[in-house]
Formats: sequence, C-alpha cells, structure tokens
Amino acid sequence: MLNKILEKIVLVASRATKPKDTTYFHESRPKKPARFRGKHFINAETCIGCYACERACPIGAIIMVPTGLKRPRAMPTVNLGRCCYCGLCEDACPTKEKSIYLTEKYEMIVEEVELTPLIDDLWAKPVGDITKNPLVIKDLQKQKQQKEGK
Ligand code: SF4
Ligand code: SF4
Repeated sequence: MLNKILEKIVLVASRATKPKDTTYFHESRPKKPARFRGKHFINAETCIGCYACERACPIGAIIMVPTGLKRPRAMPTVNLGRCCYCGLCEDACPTKEKSIYLTEKYEMIVEEVELTPLIDDLWAKPVGDITKNPLVIKDLQKQKQQKEGK
C-alpha cells in the first residue's frame, strides 16, 4: 500500500517538472495544415442564386433562403454542424469570383457560443450589401425605366 502511494507521489513529482502536454486554446492556436477548409464565406454582393452549391452538396448542408427579390431569388446558408467541409459547393459556384468559398476560419464555436450553444444551430449566412449585387441593380434600373416609360 505504502509502495503504491510512493509510486504515485514520484509520478506526480516527475510530471510536475515536465513541460505541459496541453495548452489553452487561446494561448496557442493549432497550426493549420495547408489547404485547410474552415467556415464558409458567402458573398451577397456576387451570388446569382443559381442553386449550384446546394445541388453539389452531398449531405444537404446548404439551404437556399428566399431573398424576396426577383433576382437572386434565394441565397445559400450553410449548416456548419452538418457540413463535412468537402469544398464541393465552392467548386460548383459558377461566378467569376467564387460567391461561396471555405475560409481558414475555424473558431466558430468559441466566438458564437453565447448566442448559439449548439453546433447544429451554427450557420454561415450571406455577408455584404445585397443592393450592390449587379442583378439587383439591373432589376431596380429596369423597374425605374418602366415607371418612367409610363
Ligand atoms: S463544404 Fe461540402 S458538405 Fe459543406 S456545404 Fe459545401 S458541399 Fe456541403
Ligand atoms: S453561392 Fe454560387 S453556386 Fe451558390 S447560389 Fe450563389 S452563385 Fe450559385
């Protein structure tokens, strides 16, 4: 019995002098491997609402949310809890500058945990000013011309 207690004391003492095996997340961020795929960026200013990303997603992590506009009719939102970060949505996006792409951001849970405690509730949503989207601008100009033509 005494031997076992002594063994434990020696073990604890030996561990105390060794460097830590773990670090606090905020103290040292893990190095990202090359071509790391993290949280999506969805650009509301360039998305044409073509549904290609939604169709390409193999696990139904993308939901197209109606914009209430004529064009683009809908824009993607990504369920980050369901997503497997394969990048197929980015590959499928046909716009010149990808309107959906995976960034290197991976701290989504830590940043948003107070608002949305469950990972399944985390969504990547379109970012930017939709009124700067060329399709929206064109349609507004058309409407204006039609009004002026009356
Ligand atoms: S990265 Fe893959 S799983 Fe995630 S939303 Fe895009 S296509 Fe779907
Ligand atoms: S993000 Fe790209 S693929 Fe998805 S709806 Fe918009 S334009 Fe189409």
